[in-house]
Amino acid sequence: MNCKKAAVLIEKKLDHPKNLSLYERLYLKIHLLMCALCTSFFQKSAIISRALKKGYSQKETHDLDSQEKQAILDAVLRKT
Ligand SMILES: [Zn+2]
Repeated sequence: MNCKKAAVLIEKKLDHPKNLSLYERLYLKIHLLMCALCTSFFQKSAIISRALKKGYSQKETHDLDSQEKQAILDAVLRKT
């Protein structure tokens, strides 16, 4: 299991859920069960993604969320 790959799959799942293969969905699900860091990244990314789709895309909020998301992503990638 690889956090870097999981992070890519998380982004893909949020942006284009239908593009995930069965294997990719399974891989991600199992990884999230085992990895608290990626679970946290996934939850925060999902919140940000939902907020953006709802139109809460004010620059200030967006920048803050992006920074937070990037910080988590960095932590995920450092771990690998
Ligand atoms: Zn992970």
